[in-house]
Amino acid sequence: MEPFAYIRETDSATAIAHASQEPGAAFIGGGTNLVDLMKLYVARPTQLLDLNRLPLDKIETMETGVRIGAMVRNSDLAYHEAIRLRYPVLSEALLSGATPQIRNMATVGGNLLQRTRCPYFRDTFWSCNKREPSAGCAALEGYNRSHAVLGTSEQCIATHPSDMCVALAALDAVVHTSGPHGERRIAFRDFHVSYGDDPAQETVLQQGELITAIELPVQPFFRRSHYLKVRDRASFEFALASAAVALDIQNGTIAAARVALGGVATKPWRATEAEEALVGTQPSEPSFQAAAAAALAAAKPQTHNAFKVKLAKHVLVRALTTVANIP
Ligand SMILES: Cc1cc2nc3c(=O)[nH]c(=O)nc-3n(C[C@H](O)[C@H](O)[C@H](O)COP(=O)(O)OP(=O)(O)OC[C@H]3O[C@@H](n4cnc5c(N)ncnc54)[C@H](O)[C@@H]3O)c2cc1C
Repeated sequence: MEPFAYIRETDSATAIAHASQEPGAAFIGGGTNLVDLMKLYVARPTQLLDLNRLPLDKIETMETGVRIGAMVRNSDLAYHEAIRLRYPVLSEALLSGATPQIRNMATVGGNLLQRTRCPYFRDTFWSCNKREPSAGCAALEGYNRSHAVLGTSEQCIATHPSDMCVALAALDAVVHTSGPHGERRIAFRDFHVSYGDDPAQETVLQQGELITAIELPVQPFFRRSHYLKVRDRASFEFALASAAVALDIQNGTIAAARVALGGVATKPWRATEAEEALVGTQPSEPSFQAAAAAALAAAKPQTHNAFKVKLAKHVLVRALTTVANIP
């Protein structure tokens, strides 16, 4: 780890001012991702701005939805009554991630910005366009079993690792930020960007911009939602493929659907093609198979991860079947 300055922030405006003035500054929430990367020399912040004393740790339930402060811990969010009742998919996604100890530390803001688990990104021996622009991508020719099949580019095939974000993508979440140029509300689907030519650019956040909250809208049918994650072992492991789904079934017909995929894409992947395929159909195996085919139609497998296409389809069909059977 390299030397760094440490500031314990007590108000957002000062934290934002510090982050805007110092290009090497980084906010720190639970530190479960950032400190890991600092120890690996992948992240080298010159200044750590500790957010733990900011008043951003409330979950507010309103008629229009739920507002979740950026410093709310993953475990507090997962076990919150309103989340379990109104948005089970989010609670299930959170509880499928990491370990109880890590979930007790990890914050909502940090989870949104956690970096990929691509081994070539996390080991500075290898070339990585995400770590060092134009260095090349060792994963393209390397062992790419865990990598993405959706949203990849010539520069990067790293998978987005978050489970929580897959649920947020399905739930039409909105990210609230505050920065040197004021406050913003960013639709979750626009928050993470496709890699394109610069895979280091992962979100639309600007220098010094602080995530302050996430807002979830009220949608009665979000109660009928589910997260299914398949991984190499039952705990302490990232997804090989996962699906977050919600179905609005009226008189035996799907009136609305939300589908997002994890473990297979370079960002939390909202599968609108699958949603369109589902709407107007009766909840049934053929309808779910058609939706899965639509969701993975654009998949581009690498040498070692073609199995993910089939796996993701199975995961999606199973998640939809489960949700359709929720009374
Ligand atoms: C062993 C292990 C297993 C794991 N398994 C899983 C898993 O299965 N599924 C899963 O989804 N995750 C998993 N994780 C990842 C874990 O969920 C993340 O490390 C955690 O969510 C990050 O939150 P944090 O508060 O600790 O972030 P930090 O490490 O504090 O910060 C992460 C990034 O977010 C930035 N940041 C933090 N807060 C803000 C804010 N409010 N505004 C702007 N920027 C901010 C920081 O500058 C940093 O760049 C695992 C982690 C570990 C160590």
